[in-house]
Amino acid sequence: MTKIGIIRCEKNEHACPLTNCFKCLTGTKQGFAGYEDCELAGVFTCRCPGDNVAELARILKAKGAEAIHFPTCTFAHKRKDGWELGDGFCPDMQRLMEQAGQSTGLPCVKGTAHLPEGYTPEAL
Ligand code: SF4
Ligand code: SF4
Repeated sequence: MTKIGIIRCEKNEHACPLTNCFKCLTGTKQGFAGYEDCELAGVFTCRCPGDNVAELARILKAKGAEAIHFPTCTFAHKRKDGWELGDGFCPDMQRLMEQAGQSTGLPCVKGTAHLPEGYTPEAL
C-alpha cells in the first residue's frame, strides 16, 4: 500500500474538490495506475508563488506520504474532447517539483486524474 500526498493549486480550490483525483487514487487509475494499491496520506494547497511547497512536502512525508502527486490541472487544460498538455494553472511546475523532491527525497509525480492522451506521468 503506497501512501500518497497531493499538493493542489489554490487557483481552483473553490472550483474542484479533487473528486476525480480521489477517484483515480482509490481506483489506482490514470496517474496512480503504476501503484498496486494506494491510499491518501493527505492534501495541501499550494499558494502563489509556491515558496512553501518544500515545507508542505516535508509535512506530507512526516504524515506518511511515500510519493507526492500534483494534479493534472496544474500542467494541462480541459478542452471539449479531453485534456491537453500545457496551459495548466501553474507556470512553474518544474521548480515546485524540484523543491518538493529535494526537501523530501520522495518521488514527485505530475499527474492524478484525466491524463492528456499519450501522456505518461513523470516522476522526478
Ligand atoms: S486534476 Fe481534475 S479532479 Fe484533480 S483537482 Fe484538478 S480539476 Fe480537480
Ligand atoms: S505556484 Fe503554481 S501550483 Fe502553486 S498556487 Fe501558484 S500557480 Fe498554483
